[in-house]
Amino acid sequence: MDFGADVSRLLEIVTHALYSNRDVFLRELISNGADACDRLRYDSISNADLSKGHKGFEIRVDVNAPDRLVMVQDTGIGMTRDEMVDHLGTIAKSGTRNLMEQLKQSNATGAPNLIGQFGVGFYSAFMVADNVKVISRKAGSEEIWAWESDGISGFSINPATAEDSEKLTTTSGTLITLHIKDDASEYLLEEKLKRIIVIYSNHVSLPIYVGTNEEEPINSASAIWMRPKSEISPEQYQEFFTMVSGSMGLDQPSVTAHWHAEGKIEYTALLYVPTLRPFDLYDPSRRHAVRLYVRRIYITDECEGLMYPWMRFVRGVIDSEDLPLNISREMLQQNAVVTKIRSSVTKKLLGDLDKLSRDDKTAFNAFWHQFGAVVKEGLYDAVEHREDIFKIARFFTTNGQDNLTSLDGYIERMKDGQDFIYYISGENVDTMRNSPQIEGLKKRGLEVLLLKDTIDDFWLPVVMDFKGKKFVSVTKGAIDLSKFPLPDADQPTENDNQDGTNNNNKDRASLIAYLADRLSDRISKVRISDRLTDSPVCLVASDSDTDLHMARVLKIHQKYEAPAKPVLEINPSHILISRLDSLAGTDKESEILADAAELLYDQALIIQGEPVSDPSAFARRMSVFLGKGLAA
Ligand code: ADP
Ligand code: MG
Repeated sequence: MDFGADVSRLLEIVTHALYSNRDVFLRELISNGADACDRLRYDSISNADLSKGHKGFEIRVDVNAPDRLVMVQDTGIGMTRDEMVDHLGTIAKSGTRNLMEQLKQSNATGAPNLIGQFGVGFYSAFMVADNVKVISRKAGSEEIWAWESDGISGFSINPATAEDSEKLTTTSGTLITLHIKDDASEYLLEEKLKRIIVIYSNHVSLPIYVGTNEEEPINSASAIWMRPKSEISPEQYQEFFTMVSGSMGLDQPSVTAHWHAEGKIEYTALLYVPTLRPFDLYDPSRRHAVRLYVRRIYITDECEGLMYPWMRFVRGVIDSEDLPLNISREMLQQNAVVTKIRSSVTKKLLGDLDKLSRDDKTAFNAFWHQFGAVVKEGLYDAVEHREDIFKIARFFTTNGQDNLTSLDGYIERMKDGQDFIYYISGENVDTMRNSPQIEGLKKRGLEVLLLKDTIDDFWLPVVMDFKGKKFVSVTKGAIDLSKFPLPDADQPTENDNQDGTNNNNKDRASLIAYLADRLSDRISKVRISDRLTDSPVCLVASDSDTDLHMARVLKIHQKYEAPAKPVLEINPSHILISRLDSLAGTDKESEILADAAELLYDQALIIQGEPVSDPSAFARRMSVFLGKGLAA
């Protein structure tokens, strides 16, 4: 018989372009065999005769290397003559017809992508074979039929010969014999076939044997995630974690999430959050490692849209009931089912982590230290999950030592009239804790978040606020703290002559004018600050510019140099500032004043974590001042 025009066209595409990876032919044939077994199992429920004398469900793969043959045999429901003609010779399924319609319209390059969505698994045999013979016996029938094709012109269908009939040793089932192409000899190696089965079909829920008399199945024959939770021991969960995480028994999961979702989408997931950081966590490709199965058949561990990149530390499997088995990678990326699964899985995992934060603080904090920086990528990557990410996000804070706080915790402790969430970002928590920019806030009892992850500088400009409270960088722009008075002891008084001079003029106009002129090539402005209580000076970004630390991060990571100049803020009450102000008022040409201006600026840079521009000049000036101090 001739193949329909559709099938011929399809075969041409399949043989040349459908899968870049030819290994999958075996997965497809095994999956068909497993389906056939499932169907017989189901039909036997209402008609026990169908499996009378049946020897048990299994799939057996055999090789006859001298004759270049690979055999795949199942003990499933089998096919009648007409079924073989219908299912293996025409494209009967409406979905596939649909595909052919689309193929007619699309150009040749788009075709392989389209085709991957539809069930055309059987034809993938022709990727590796130049002749395929199917011998089948339908359950409940005495007849055995043989279908044979070279995958080009058409197929023949005949009653099986006595010799062929003998090969089919079960009460029902199908034997597929592939004559392997010259360029596909690797599939004549049992080892190669075994490896493919372990990769793709390990969790097919019936035994797969390689070799005629082999009694040990090559696969584990059961999908652990499909079993009820109550039947799975902690050891079995751990064993599976070890396998999917590749952690060789060195790690344990901090979260094990095993659930079945029903409703709009149906899937089962068994996912783990490891305790240790996987070695490739910061790999630039940001690839996740969750494996996708469709009805127990392994599809890929490279389904990009299945997990967010900021969930790339998660290990395990997701098994979908709704996806077509033959879906191509390209199609998976924009598949609506995949996107829904991702959203559902993300919600569930964030919920579990939130629960962990309440049930086991130590374990949760360990998790956050390992993976928090990655999770925070989600704050700008996935707006729909932002709220849930904020629930588990923790930050270092000036409130207490080493303590991590949630944003809700911060908001609870906010002072009356406080409208902002204050933060400083930098590389080192201790340096930030002591940085001059937050002195004034600390003294006033205002809490400051200490953000130490590079990623913080990326989500903050996007996120802007939390529960209506704006995030405000304390190293950027002027901050008005006049609402929050300093405690009395720290309140500078009008006649606070800590400098021992009579310079009570707190606007420091002379010094401001002097510094602005002297440092004009490096700073945009000099101004009096609320921010400082102990230190003489600090640098901040101007209102409209990129935050200072952000600018530094951009410089390192993207080789981008912000053209903006920072603002130099001075502490009017500091003894050094008031003395220099006096000096600036009387002797502008003073060498000490010039050196001091440079030293103040360099000091501000160092505190900021920036290098000074001329270290030897800095050292020279410093020595001069030290010498003067010692001489005095
Ligand atoms: P799909 O599996 O998506 O239906 P395939 O191209 O893999 O598409 O198979 C086409 C059809 O051929 C199957 O739906 C099934 O009816 C039939 N078939 C293929 N292999 C077998 C088998 N081993 N036993 C019984 N029926 C089979
Ligand atoms: Mg199939």
